[in-house]
Amino acid sequence: MPVLVMKFGGTSVATLDRIKRAAKRVGVEVSKGYDVIVIVSAMSGETNKLVGFVEETSPLFDAREYDAVVSSGENVTAGLMALTLQEMDVPARSWQGWQVPVKTTSAHSSARIEDIPPENITRKFGEGMRVAVVAGFQGISPEGRITTLGRGGSDTTAVAFAAAFGAERCDIYTDVDGVYTTDPRICDKARKLDRIAFEEMLELASLGAKVLQTRSVELAMRYKVKLRVLSSFEEQSDDAGTLVCDEEDIMESNVVAGVAYSRDEAKMTLVSVADRPGIAAAIFTPLSEAGVNVDMIVQNISEEGRTDMTFSCPTNQVPRAEKAMIDAKARGDINFHDIVADTAVAKVSVVGIGMRSHTGVAAKMFQVLAKEGINIKVITTSEIKISVLIDRKYMELAVQALHDAFELEKAS
Ligand code: ADP
Ligand code: ASP
Ligand code: MG
Repeated sequence: MPVLVMKFGGTSVATLDRIKRAAKRVGVEVSKGYDVIVIVSAMSGETNKLVGFVEETSPLFDAREYDAVVSSGENVTAGLMALTLQEMDVPARSWQGWQVPVKTTSAHSSARIEDIPPENITRKFGEGMRVAVVAGFQGISPEGRITTLGRGGSDTTAVAFAAAFGAERCDIYTDVDGVYTTDPRICDKARKLDRIAFEEMLELASLGAKVLQTRSVELAMRYKVKLRVLSSFEEQSDDAGTLVCDEEDIMESNVVAGVAYSRDEAKMTLVSVADRPGIAAAIFTPLSEAGVNVDMIVQNISEEGRTDMTFSCPTNQVPRAEKAMIDAKARGDINFHDIVADTAVAKVSVVGIGMRSHTGVAAKMFQVLAKEGINIKVITTSEIKISVLIDRKYMELAVQALHDAFELEKAS
C-alpha cells in the first residue's frame, strides 16, 4: 500500500481533544488506502519546560542527559496518539526513536539522522497495522544513547521517514495554514504562499522562520520528498497549504519571497585582540569545540596591531562562549582586554532567489531601516539573502516595514 507521512506539531497535539482531531485526519487517510506513518511532537510548551528543568539543574549541562530529558515529551504524545487511534478501531502502535531505530550521529542536542532501517515498521504494516506513530525529534547514537535532533526536529524526523519509506507525500500539520511571506504572528499583512522553492524555504528556515526545521528542508530537497505545510485546525482539501517544491515548478516569483527574523541572537565582542595571522582560528576553534554556533562574524579595522572581533551566536550559548574565551585567554592562546555580550539583539533577513538577477535589494533594505531610525549593527549577505543584526526592540517594526517596502502583501 502507498505510504503517507503526517506530522503533527506541538500545538496540534496540545490537548487530548486536539489529539483526537489529529487522529481523525489520520483516519481519513487510512480510509483512502494509505499506510500512515504519524510523527508527533511533544505537547506544546512541554519541551520548553523540560529544557528549563535541565538548565536550572545544570547550566553547563551534559548534552547526553539533556537529550534523555528533553526527548521525553514526544513519548507521551506518541503513546496517546496510538491509543486514540485504537479507540477509533484503527490498528496502530507507537514507536520511540530507538525502537525503529532512528540511527543518528552522537552530536547530542543537534544530532543528524544517518539511517532509518524500514524493516521493523514495514513488517508490522505487512501484519495489518495501518498506522505507525513515531515519536519525533529522537534517535539513538552509535553508543546506544538517546539523541535529539535540535529544536523543531520533528519536522526532520517526518521528512527522513518520508524518504526512507518512499512516501507519496510528507504533510506537516501545524498551527498556521501554510508558509507565509513572514511570520503571521508579527505581521498581519503576511500572505500565505501556495508554493515556495526549496532554496528559499531553506534560507527562511535557517534564518529563523521556525515553521520548518532547516534540516527537514535540506533532506526534502536532497531526497525529492513532496513536502507540504498545512493547518491541523481547519478542514483541508488535497491541494491546501503550501507546497515546498523545485524552483522550476513555480510560475512567477517575487524578487523577495519572504522576511525572517530570529529573536534569540546575542552579539559578542572581544575588545582589543592582537591582529596577527591565526587569531581568527585561535578564537573560533575553541568556540566550536565548546559547541557554540557562531553565525555572523565581523573583524573591525585594526589600530596599532589590535582589533575588535565581533560575532553572533544564540543567546543561550553566551555562557559557553564566554567560558571558552576566558579559558583560551588563560591558556595564553588569545589575548583581549574585555569581552562584551549584547543579548538584546535580533536578526532580520530578506530572502529571495530573484536577488540573483536583481540588484538594489540591499540598498532598499538599508534605506527602509534608516527611514525607521533603526541602527544596523552587523550585516551579512549571500546570493539569495541579506541579514542584519539590530536592537531587538525594533525587530517587529523592521519586519513590518520590510514586508511593506517589498510589497509582500501582494504575494501568493
Ligand atoms: P509546530 O509546533 O507545529 O512545529 P512551530 O511553532 O514550530 O509549529 O511552527 C509554526 C509557527 O511558525 C507559526 O505559528 C508561526 O508563528 C511561525 N512562523 C515563522 N515564520 C513563518 C512563516 N514564514 N510562515 C508561517 N509560519 C511562520
Ligand atoms: N518538541 C521538540 C521541540 O519543541 C521538537 C518539535 O516539536 O519539533 O523543539
Ligand atoms: Mg516546529
